Amino acid sequence: MKKIDRGTAFVQQHLSLFQCPTCRAAYTEVDGHSLVCPNHHTLDVNKKGSLNFLNRNVDTEYDDAMLASRRKVLSAGLFDGIVTAVGTALDAQAQTILDVGTGEGTPLAKLLAERNNQDVGLGFDISKAGINLATQLDTDAFYLVADLAHLPFMDHQIDTIVEFFSPSAYEEFNRVLKPGGRLVKVIPNAGYLHELREMLYPVDSKNHTYSNDKVLNHFMATYPQATQQRVQYTWTIPADIYVDLLHMTPLHWGARPEAQALAEQTPLDQVTVDVTVLVVDV
Ligand SMILES: [Zn+2]
Repeated sequence: MKKIDRGTAFVQQHLSLFQCPTCRAAYTEVDGHSLVCPNHHTLDVNKKGSLNFLNRNVDTEYDDAMLASRRKVLSAGLFDGIVTAVGTALDAQAQTILDVGTGEGTPLAKLLAERNNQDVGLGFDISKAGINLATQLDTDAFYLVADLAHLPFMDHQIDTIVEFFSPSAYEEFNRVLKPGGRLVKVIPNAGYLHELREMLYPVDSKNHTYSNDKVLNHFMATYPQATQQRVQYTWTIPADIYVDLLHMTPLHWGARPEAQALAEQTPLDQVTVDVTVLVVDV
């Protein structure tokens, strides 16, 4: 089946999820490969089998090379322990899962696979390049380009929102989640990839250390009933993707070129993954 036909079939089956970005009405019809709202606004499923809800192309700091590096490192399993922890935090029954800031899509695809592909999986990102890469994955997940501030979903349609290291929009999350729906947010701890951080930044640099206090405090102030679980493991780095690991995070953006060059020439065998999984029923 062609991607555009597969994407159209998904949209047809789950039409009531999607909201017209122009008039905010629910789409009511699929005509060919186009979604049509009651006010005759249309949106086409594209050749990649996805939807683009942005009327402009947004340049993000995640360029093609960085996304390709992320694909290699995430395929190799850097986040596997995190994905398992998130899967454990989800209700066992089949449900509609939305992955916020899905990037190149691998964590969502792995999460759905761990749950035996029983769920309806949606992943969105503002980066068209990321979503184009995501649509190449062998997964039942549906990927789309959208803005965090205007989620293109009708109210109270989503059972669970997951977020791997992404910015949040809590009002929008509360709007699209079903009453009692769950939010599972993964944030890095100080120890996350600290080996790279320490190589790239001198001791007197503010980037030498990291604190998640601000993000954590904001989350806990918004959802005081949330629970926190720490997930910590050492990941063995396959030698052929060490440089991709250096390039896949924003960590290297502010590093001095000589520190970057030195880090590239000094391969590490292992790196620390250290995150907090925040869980709340809204
Ligand atoms: Zn409309």
